Formats: sequence, C-alpha cells, structure tokens
Amino acid sequence: MGRVVRWFFPDNMAYVIAEPCIGTKDSACVDACPVDCIHPKKDDARFADAEMLYIDPVECIDCGACVPVCPVSAIFALDDLPEKWTDFTEKNAAFFGR
Ligand code: SF4
Repeated sequence: MGRVVRWFFPDNMAYVIAEPCIGTKDSACVDACPVDCIHPKKDDARFADAEMLYIDPVECIDCGACVPVCPVSAIFALDDLPEKWTDFTEKNAAFFGR
C-alpha cells in the first residue's frame, strides 16, 4: 500500500525509523513532529509492547524535524536509509496498516 501511495504522490517520500530505535523508544521525535505522525506515543496502550516507534508514511510531510532530536540516529529520509535496514520501510508502514 505504501508503494502505491508513493506512486500517486511521488513528492511524499516519507522518513523511516530504523533498527537503532528498537529498545530505545526515546520519543523526542514524537514531540518534534509537526503533524503527529510518529506512534505509538507514551500514553498509547500499545507503547509498552511496541519494540520501536514508527512513522506513518502517508501523514509524514518529509520535513526532517525528527532527525536531529533522535539520540540514537534511527531516523532517515527514504533515500538515505542504509540498505541493511530497507525492510524498516515496510515495518513503519505496516504499523499503520499501509
Ligand atoms: Fe514528522 Fe517531519 Fe519526521 Fe515526517 S519528517 S515524521 S513529518 S518530523
């Protein structure tokens, strides 16, 4: 589904949270995001069980505000995502049923 959305809206590349977030879930990115597209939040019932946080690829406006606040450098523009973590594109989208 995410790929279909990008085919229709090629300007929306979205950012991706990758492996360094697993077990970290710092949440500074949640506060930095202007469109509230990083989940689950700390007050979300899913937060405790989630292994990491995820970016909604449809809602993300590609602003990059979340990148510098991440203490473990887990967030990447899609074009900059290391190849070893390409599967995280789908993992982020899947959390939102994309
Ligand atoms: Fe939110 Fe901007 Fe980061 Fe997308 S790039 S998740 S809109 S802060």
